[in-house]
Amino acid sequence: MFLLFIISLSVIFYFICMELDKPVPPFSPLSGECPDCNEPVESGWLVCPECRAVLREVCPACGKVHDRWVKYCPWCRHLNQKAAV
Ligand SMILES: [Zn+2]
Ligand SMILES: [Zn+2]
Repeated sequence: MFLLFIISLSVIFYFICMELDKPVPPFSPLSGECPDCNEPVESGWLVCPECRAVLREVCPACGKVHDRWVKYCPWCRHLNQKAAV
């Protein structure tokens, strides 16, 4: 009976360890597509590595730099005309 208790305890412990060992989902940066060549690009990139298109632009409303593909300026919600379809 005691052995059964030990076994079940170790099984529970094993599953707790499995739970803890689960890989954390990799941090996926906000990404988009290059407006020129449609290659996937990551947020923060200044130019497209495929075609060297400029990926960031200055918001005409607040003057801050944001990614070119965002629909709205993340700083002031100004509609990004080039991304809005
Ligand atoms: Zn490109
Ligand atoms: Zn803005």
